[in-house]
Amino acid sequence: MKTALNPPHRKALHLRRCAPPPPAGDTGGSFLLRQPEKPLIIPIFIMNSGCPQHCTFCNEKIAAGNFAPEVMKSFFDTEVASYLRWNRDKLRRVEIAFYGGNFTGLAPDYQKRLLSWANTYIQKGQVDSIRISTRPDYIDDDQLIFLHASGVRTIEIGAQTFNDEVLRCTGRGHHAQATIRAMKLLKAHGFQTGLHLMVGLPGDTRESFRETLERTAELRPDTARIHPVLIFEDTQLASDYRLGHYQPLSLDEAVDWCLLAWETLTPAGIHIIRFGLQMTPEMSKEGAVLAGPMHPAFGSLVYSAIFYSATLKLLRDIPRETRILRFGVVERDLSNFRGLGNKNAEAIIKLYPDTQIVIDSVREGLPGHLSLLIETGESFSLDIPGII
Ligand code: SF4
Repeated sequence: MKTALNPPHRKALHLRRCAPPPPAGDTGGSFLLRQPEKPLIIPIFIMNSGCPQHCTFCNEKIAAGNFAPEVMKSFFDTEVASYLRWNRDKLRRVEIAFYGGNFTGLAPDYQKRLLSWANTYIQKGQVDSIRISTRPDYIDDDQLIFLHASGVRTIEIGAQTFNDEVLRCTGRGHHAQATIRAMKLLKAHGFQTGLHLMVGLPGDTRESFRETLERTAELRPDTARIHPVLIFEDTQLASDYRLGHYQPLSLDEAVDWCLLAWETLTPAGIHIIRFGLQMTPEMSKEGAVLAGPMHPAFGSLVYSAIFYSATLKLLRDIPRETRILRFGVVERDLSNFRGLGNKNAEAIIKLYPDTQIVIDSVREGLPGHLSLLIETGESFSLDIPGII
């Protein structure tokens, strides 16, 4: 939506040299709000433990890192201590997260042991709460009562897709209904919720992925993580790929599907906390990833696409013969606005080849806020939802 405003202008970055830029506008529109807090997450990987079967795409040793199959107390304490030492913001929320595998499928004794170790840090006031990730078909009332009493406040569910045929093709061993039921139970028990989705699963299409996003928007998890399918060595998917039975998405397609996810989920109030897998040393090893849309800055590619899409909306009614385009962009959004390798900036120049284009860096303001001033004095703005 475009609305009139007095844009807060600061340091100017020129996209294109033409005539001198007009004087920067006043700063009366600048404002500073506290950003939503991002917790410090201390990840502890349980490495396929508790999984009843093996999903065709999964190789935790490559995706998460080559950790021991069972978490030992000495390892746990060393990991937590090193994160706590590294954390300089003592007011920031701290959470211990048990990731990988299927936490609620672990033997009850092992679950209790891990949670009691984490609780010693909560009791000392060094950690605020615990989060886990788990499968949707391993959740029931008793389990949730136990987890809540043990300090777990956030549960992330590996949904991957809401398409039953895609779930079958990936050997997940459950139906979409299990995720719907799990999310309802989690909310009824007062947990913060997260959903993991994947783009480019075998059998999936952009259209069926759109339906997955619509189901996700209806369920309204607090957060979502979205990452593209990579073909890891020693997986069923690697065999299927070698036989020519599976073709991964290209990098551009994966970014496009993620942009679709952003445009569907953020208006529903779902905060997307990650695009793409964290690169591990194992992923960089020769032959570990056979194919797929892998990029060391995958998230930045997606955010660049989000900002370019928003910029096109801002420019929708601006004629090509406009003489001056003066954008106001919050300082921390500048690299996403310009795009990786200046891709977005160059695309704007191509759209307006005879226009003087200026980017003003706005030091204070809400992330995701874009403004535009043209030579007639008209100004426009747009807020990209979900940018923090
Ligand atoms: S449930 Fe999760 S950890 Fe287990 S095999 Fe499937 S994707 Fe991997």
